[in-house]
Amino acid sequence: MKIKIIKCLQDNFSYLIIDEKSQLACVIDPSEPDPIIDFLNHNTKITLKYILNTHHHYDHVGGNHKLKKKYNCKIIGFKGDKDRIPEIDILVDDNQIWKKDSFEAKIYHIPGHTTGHIAFHFYNEKKIFTGDTLFSLGCGRLFEGTYEQMFNSLKKIKQLPKDTEIYCGHEYTLQNSKFCIANDPENLKLKEKITIIKNNLRKNLPTVPTTLQDELECNIFLKAKDLKSFSKLRDLKDNF
Ligand code: ZN
Ligand code: FE
Repeated sequence: MKIKIIKCLQDNFSYLIIDEKSQLACVIDPSEPDPIIDFLNHNTKITLKYILNTHHHYDHVGGNHKLKKKYNCKIIGFKGDKDRIPEIDILVDDNQIWKKDSFEAKIYHIPGHTTGHIAFHFYNEKKIFTGDTLFSLGCGRLFEGTYEQMFNSLKKIKQLPKDTEIYCGHEYTLQNSKFCIANDPENLKLKEKITIIKNNLRKNLPTVPTTLQDELECNIFLKAKDLKSFSKLRDLKDNF
């Protein structure tokens, strides 16, 4: 299983999950259709079969309509968002295993950023797609959910194996790192990670995937011990 990172819009990441054997692919959160179509035009052996949406925001579903029309692919999303995810075909629920062809992912309902946000955990490959819930060195803003929901959603992700690779919805890592280091100035591991981040960005490379291990050590939101300190950090970040 190969992951192709496709940059979309200003700072969004869409991801193609490609089974190299069958040449079938899923796309996670196509923000816009054209960068995906462009990649597929240059890789004509690959067939796009599924669109997986983490949540209903336009910068995650913007490509749904055009890609479905062009490739006749199926759209998978949270059942609670069936009226908000454009052209959804397959409804999934919390803790369900979604399995098609050689793709196999567990669904986690992780509300907070939106009430219907989900993550797709490809546990055999140890990769999770966290949308706008967990970012590298940050977490999503609370647009619809409560502090408690977001805190509990992050807790679910924290329980996964530490070598799980995390693929998030935006390239916010450098900006996020400034907030982390301001609140955790003695963290050596974080300092090391910031050096790597800056090197990647200088070379125009993405800062994803990150790992759960790195995030547990460096992401101030995952280090928050209780709901109260998490909530305080979330407020501070909104005005940072
Ligand atoms: Zn969003
Ligand atoms: Fe987003």
